[in-house]
Amino acid sequence: MDYSQYFSAALGRLHDERRYRVFADLERIAGRFPHATWHSPSGPRNVVIWCSNDYLGMGQHPRVVGAMVETATRVGTGAGGTRNIAGTHHPLVQLEAELADLHGKEAALLFTSGYVSNQTGIATLAKLIPDCLILSDALNHNSMIEGVRQSGCERQIWRHNDLAHLEQLLIAAGPNRPKLIACESLYSMDGDVAPLAEICDLAERYNAMTYVDEVHAVGMYGPRGGGIAERDGVMHRIDILEGTLAKAFGCLGGYIAAKGEIIDAVRSYAPGFIFTTALPPPICSAATAAIKHLKSSSWERERHQDRAARVKAVLNAAGLPVMTNDTHIVPLFVGDPEKCKQASDLLLEEHGIYIQPINYPTVAKGTERLRITPSPYHDDGLIDRLAEALLQVWERLGLALHEKPLAAE
Ligand SMILES: *Cc1c(COP(=O)(O)O)cnc(C)c1O
Repeated sequence: MDYSQYFSAALGRLHDERRYRVFADLERIAGRFPHATWHSPSGPRNVVIWCSNDYLGMGQHPRVVGAMVETATRVGTGAGGTRNIAGTHHPLVQLEAELADLHGKEAALLFTSGYVSNQTGIATLAKLIPDCLILSDALNHNSMIEGVRQSGCERQIWRHNDLAHLEQLLIAAGPNRPKLIACESLYSMDGDVAPLAEICDLAERYNAMTYVDEVHAVGMYGPRGGGIAERDGVMHRIDILEGTLAKAFGCLGGYIAAKGEIIDAVRSYAPGFIFTTALPPPICSAATAAIKHLKSSSWERERHQDRAARVKAVLNAAGLPVMTNDTHIVPLFVGDPEKCKQASDLLLEEHGIYIQPINYPTVAKGTERLRITPSPYHDDGLIDRLAEALLQVWERLGLALHEKPLAAE
């Protein structure tokens, strides 16, 4: 039996659909964010990264790096096992307290990634509610979809950010059936934001629980970096908030924050929590340092918004098809998988600019794009050079300029 034929056939299908992915071999340079070394086929080259989800550059912040090194030197690297077997190390306890405080909740629970927190968190919560109906936004992240699927509960999908549709489904389910509304606060491919206050209104009116993924907002929105829910003054109205330590906080790990008994139940029942080794102490200390820093420093948040607004303005003025939104994400419409990949390759090879192409299945076919994520450290010179490079690439590939800016939907 030639088993390898199955795998080469599977890869062939991706090549045929122009969906085969190639990763660039990059090495970031601490202290020089967003500059990095690209280990290209012809040797190392300097490049500027324009698509990192280390949105605020916290992964290189001296306090964050310092905390990681200090803890590694003091207590070592790994956690030494699952929390059930090896106990809970102190930096993890401190981090959970920091997160509960960030979100104004009684407790928080750490997972090895944001992905796992959604997958095992949603599955466990919904399983513990008899006959739970999950109402899931159409554009929810794969980790939430997997959590919903693994719960085994009935699921209905409401049209993206469509409150009228959500209300219809809530009414149809009836007041007595348990319902869990699951959505994100900031959708990272279009950069649009959920109407959280109105979703909370509906949840309260129709007796539903709320679960909100704030992965692309924590650290970046709200006076203390508590996310869109903090900014909008609705954090206390959301039952379960989920976030990551891997994006704006520059580390690794995911979490949920909620009432004490909810967190205790997930801690006690979630397989994706119980049967895997806890996050390493140095990571926990680094994340705590990042969260603490962003609770009191608004410089990063303000400069981040300022840079994003400038990139949008400069690219728009150049006639490039920026997809409009009110957040820090700058999607640039391409609408063709092949050209999207070629644009990304040209930017890297000829201009030393790294922007990963975003193709199906991450976004719908026909809406392929370059997703640009400016950080506080992308200065005016870098922005001007980005616009010039994009214009050259747009011309080379015969892509349209001066299109009417597309709506975020
Ligand atoms: C990245 C992402 C996650 C997963 O977080 P990780 O910490 O990277 O595993 C969850 N939800 C959304 C919306 C994301 O974009």
